[in-house]
Amino acid sequence: MPRPIQATIHTQALHSNLNQIRSHAPDSKYWVVVKANAYGHGIERVMNGLRAADGFALLDLNEAQRVRDLGWRGPILLLEGAFELRDLELCSRLDLWHTVHCEEQIDMMAAHKTHLPHRVFLKLNSGMNRLGFAPAQYRSAWARLNALPQVDEISHMTHFADADGPKGIAAQMQQFTQATHDLPGERSVSNSAAILRHTQLAQEADWVRAGIALYGSAPDYPENGIDYWNLQPTMTLEAGIIGIQNLQPGDAVGYGSTFVAEHPMRIGIAACGYADGYPRSCPTGTPVLVQGQRSSTVGRVSMDMLAVDLTHLPQAGMGSKVTLWGRAASGAILAIDEVATSAKTVGYELMCALASRVPVVVE
Ligand SMILES: *Cc1c(COP(=O)(O)O)cnc(C)c1O
Repeated sequence: MPRPIQATIHTQALHSNLNQIRSHAPDSKYWVVVKANAYGHGIERVMNGLRAADGFALLDLNEAQRVRDLGWRGPILLLEGAFELRDLELCSRLDLWHTVHCEEQIDMMAAHKTHLPHRVFLKLNSGMNRLGFAPAQYRSAWARLNALPQVDEISHMTHFADADGPKGIAAQMQQFTQATHDLPGERSVSNSAAILRHTQLAQEADWVRAGIALYGSAPDYPENGIDYWNLQPTMTLEAGIIGIQNLQPGDAVGYGSTFVAEHPMRIGIAACGYADGYPRSCPTGTPVLVQGQRSSTVGRVSMDMLAVDLTHLPQAGMGSKVTLWGRAASGAILAIDEVATSAKTVGYELMCALASRVPVVVE
């Protein structure tokens, strides 16, 4: 028998989340962001659930190739554009649309030999200060690009730093509007948080870019959870109990003996550890589901195992299923956001870190 650990990707949940997100801005076109191997889910595994997308957005050329290999003939956008001149050949061959965020990428376009002109998304740095042209340089970048025979339509995009929080998007949006208002071309703004929280703006965009919410994590957790946004978990991580220990007061659990029982306890050892992608930073008390019922972790997470409290769950024993995040067989849900918060991180990091040794099934 293989080690009892498994991840499940829920096709129906992906489909339902896309529909749910789409209801916020039904007339906009949706880039479905599948970078980082579809946020750890696996591009091949999410494709069926996300076929209703208008386009796929990602970073790696090899991921773009995989999306084409899966039969997708619609738009694909490279969110960081080309890294070197050679990349543009693949853009021509696979018909990829790509971001242009710096002068060097315009130089590359000027040097690129292509029969078909490329569709590009010119990126404005509206205040996040990662990628993009500063507002003062935006027009000259546009004019330079527009003069190139290698360039077809030019769209405009920017990315928000604070769509999930109180600072919001107003200042960045003002920069974007100012820089682009009298230029032709489609506009792309709004990550998941902006689509959900700044719906009016998403409705005005030609293209929005949905990522994390598709994968069943609330971008503004803990202010709002997936239940508030009507999203469903798309990844479940589940492991079996492979050992039981009965503790007396004073007995310790795991490396460093960080947990010491104060009363008699029964604990189960689940076959999941940090080498499976479960964060070692999860402290005692991190929520889990055992046979669909809430419990919590005890002591330090080790490489291959972690301990869960079974004291109040007498029916649980060897072989019982522990849901680390996602949906239990009973239908009970443990949002990945709850576990991420316990680990002092975000759902994004947990799903992206699912280890390759964990077998994955798609249902
Ligand atoms: C990752 C990414 C997104 C999606 O962000 P989420 O918060 O996951 O919705 C959108 N736009 C760009 C440019 C990105 O890099």
